[in-house]
Amino acid sequence: MGRAFVYVILGGGVAAGYAAHEFVKRGVSQGELCIISEEPVAPYERPALSKGFLLPEAPARLPSFHCCVGTNEERLTPKWYKEHGIELILGTRVKSADVRRKTLMTATGETISYKFLIVATGARALKLEEFGVTGSDAENVCYLRDLADATRLVNVMQSSKDGNAVVIGGGYIGMECAASLVINNINVTMVFPEAHCMGRLFTPKIASYYEEFYQSKGVKFIKGTVLTSFDLNSDGKVTAVNLRDGSKLPADMVVIGIGIRANTSLFEGQLTLEKGGIKVNGKMQSSNTSVYAVGDVAAFPVKVFGETRRLEHVDSARKSARHAVAAIMQPETTGEFDYLPFFYSRVFTLSWQFYGDNVGEAVHFGDFTGKTFGAYWINKGHLIGSFLEGGTKEEYEAIAKITRLKPEIQDLSELEKQGLGFALTESEKLSLPPTSPVPAASSSSLVVAEKPLHPWHAAAGVILAASVAAFAYWYGKKRRRW
Ligand SMILES: Cc1cc2nc3c(=O)[nH]c(=O)nc-3n(C[C@H](O)[C@H](O)[C@H](O)COP(=O)(O)OP(=O)(O)OC[C@H]3O[C@@H](n4cnc5c(N)ncnc54)[C@H](O)[C@@H]3O)c2cc1C
Repeated sequence: MGRAFVYVILGGGVAAGYAAHEFVKRGVSQGELCIISEEPVAPYERPALSKGFLLPEAPARLPSFHCCVGTNEERLTPKWYKEHGIELILGTRVKSADVRRKTLMTATGETISYKFLIVATGARALKLEEFGVTGSDAENVCYLRDLADATRLVNVMQSSKDGNAVVIGGGYIGMECAASLVINNINVTMVFPEAHCMGRLFTPKIASYYEEFYQSKGVKFIKGTVLTSFDLNSDGKVTAVNLRDGSKLPADMVVIGIGIRANTSLFEGQLTLEKGGIKVNGKMQSSNTSVYAVGDVAAFPVKVFGETRRLEHVDSARKSARHAVAAIMQPETTGEFDYLPFFYSRVFTLSWQFYGDNVGEAVHFGDFTGKTFGAYWINKGHLIGSFLEGGTKEEYEAIAKITRLKPEIQDLSELEKQGLGFALTESEKLSLPPTSPVPAASSSSLVVAEKPLHPWHAAAGVILAASVAAFAYWYGKKRRRW
């Protein structure tokens, strides 16, 4: 048994939803496109699962957060797919792929063939067992990657009211889950091996702000150690967590957020892999010209840094998916993907955005005892990354613009003194109409634009940066429940 499609999207997450939307915008015909997903629901905005979905009151539930509500566009319900003649093959795992024959084999035994394949298989949560610890299958041990995990987490949380939760891991999932657990009246202890939370992004100074904020909400931190085992009762439920430093933490529930691994296994030995993902070019095309990869599973050239990266963030999933579809449907007019990495998070009343890269020397600015502060990262004399907590629309726009331009920074202490004002002033100069003095020869003694810019060039850059920033503002400020 088998079916044939012109376009097949393998995976039904964020990237799949945005790719489908782009296909329709560009005029896909009825019956040409199908999405195959292991999940039983149409693509949805995954970040909702650690935010609005976990709220104790009026939590977000599907269909409210189907793609593409995250960018304030149409909500793609199953009806939308039907109306546009897109086949949704849900609750179906693809168990093998043959890129030479251009076929996929599902776990139900169906062969699906394609002319173009978009791999959007995302990533899966790393399990404790991969680190030699057993107990992931205990009733009150939770992970958070998909809707089934989130539903389970809510049930466990509801049966642990006023109890103790241990959160293992101090990254995105750990931090967002810890905040949600507190809001649900659960006592939280976070355990991680690093010296501070969000070790891959935050500087110690930024991390200490968030850790103090969390502590003010009752969260305890145990750093520099790891989970070694669980104590279980006769029902197989975890009652305590044992740490390498010898301590034992009573637990009514445990949340594990120790990282993810991209789902590449179907293509190992068939496509070139890099950085743990499927290597693609600037058109999101893999080493097989009929196969594209997008979202968390894709390792793509990040032009602003001149190197291949695999990103694990929703903005990159959305934009890489749209770009792949453009490259497939309008190859002549679609250029190279030119993406400025952007991440964000919202916890409690806090909200931050980050653009670019966090290598080099960090220059902090703002009031770390107040509401608005941040940092710039300077590498090889250029500003290449910006972080801002508690910014306004204009401020987020400004850091996005300035980061994309990678200005040369001559004086770090002057940059520190100017702080956010630097981004605001420099980006304002860049926003001047093309007839105004060109920003390349900036009047500031602090900054020299990387290359002389023609006025139209500068304007195009501003338009691009402004669209990134406009989205960033919307996402940061709108504060939707998901
Ligand atoms: C709880 C949570 C909160 C997050 N919050 C944020 C945030 O605040 N900000 C941010 O920038 N990013 C956030 N992220 C990350 C963001 O959600 C991901 O970057 C994004 O979902 C990646 O999209 P994707 O389509 O590549 O993968 P996914 O959305 O993971 O989708 C992959 C899909 O492929 C399916 N699949 C995989 N293998 C197969 C197979 N063999 N057969 C069939 N189907 C398959 C999966 O079931 C899934 O449906 C969060 C992630 C999680 C889990």
